[in-house]
Amino acid sequence: MKCDRCCGEMAYEKFYGPSEYFWGWRCIFCGEIVDTMILDNRKGFPSPSAVRHRFVKTPKYKGG
Ligand SMILES: [Zn+2]
Repeated sequence: MKCDRCCGEMAYEKFYGPSEYFWGWRCIFCGEIVDTMILDNRKGFPSPSAVRHRFVKTPKYKGG
């Protein structure tokens, strides 16, 4: 398993949430955490660039 951010080695570890624990990957270099649920969610997403243009432009405010 390689880290998305720094391509470092990731370690499979047990993490403790508010009410239960889960298993996930933690980068030993930058601390990035990826749990298995996040990985499942990513599979279902379309490519980020496909939805980017749907954001509404915010008007510019002059002065303040
Ligand atoms: Zn990393």
